[in-house]
Amino acid sequence: KAIKKIFETKKRPFFNPLIVHIKNIDYLDVVAQNIPPKAYLLAQHFWPGPLTLLLDKRADVPNIITADKPTVAVRIPNHPMALALLQQLNFPLAAPSANRFGHVSPTSSADVQEELGQFLLPEDTILNGGTSIVGIESTIISCTTSMPKILRPGAVTIEQVESLLKTKLSSENLGNPTRFSGSFEKHYAPKTKV
Ligand code: AMP
Ligand code: MG
Repeated sequence: KAIKKIFETKKRPFFNPLIVHIKNIDYLDVVAQNIPPKAYLLAQHFWPGPLTLLLDKRADVPNIITADKPTVAVRIPNHPMALALLQQLNFPLAAPSANRFGHVSPTSSADVQEELGQFLLPEDTILNGGTSIVGIESTIISCTTSMPKILRPGAVTIEQVESLLKTKLSSENLGNPTRFSGSFEKHYAPKTKV
């Protein structure tokens, strides 16, 4: 019900999957399976932070979160309030940016109020965690094949990832329509949208 409400409130199409947020690396194999060593290397180096790993999903991750795909996107966010929230839960949290679909992601609670305030119920709450330091989406790396692939450029640079893995990233999936789904495109690569 809660996940459905995320899609409805954002007017996000159900084919656009959500990222699952976890509080520590031990939760990685709660949501994913067949996790390759490179994924652990990336997770240990960049988490908490704006890097999302795409992995084979475990069956108990609800299909509504992953848009019926066999994969799940997962990361640990690096914000004290997000981490404090996750610490209080004994389950991972699917969470997108708090904007209507197609709009630029909010970077402050005032943005969220402006964007979604009218759709909130009296019992709903906007947590005020200050202004975003990064302000663009997480980089998404697929680790479902032996060669990691970049699916979405974002706050962690391709060079940072390649330098850690000591290998070039494949970008054969760059035609994926869900690529560039966020502010990165709007702020930095407006001409590349397909
Ligand atoms: P965000 O825009 O930061 O909420 O991240 C959501 C984006 O992550 C989606 O638009 C997809 O590009 C990507 N994503 C999330 N889950 C999956 C998945 N299971 N398979 C492929 N891409 C995914
Ligand atoms: Mg978003």
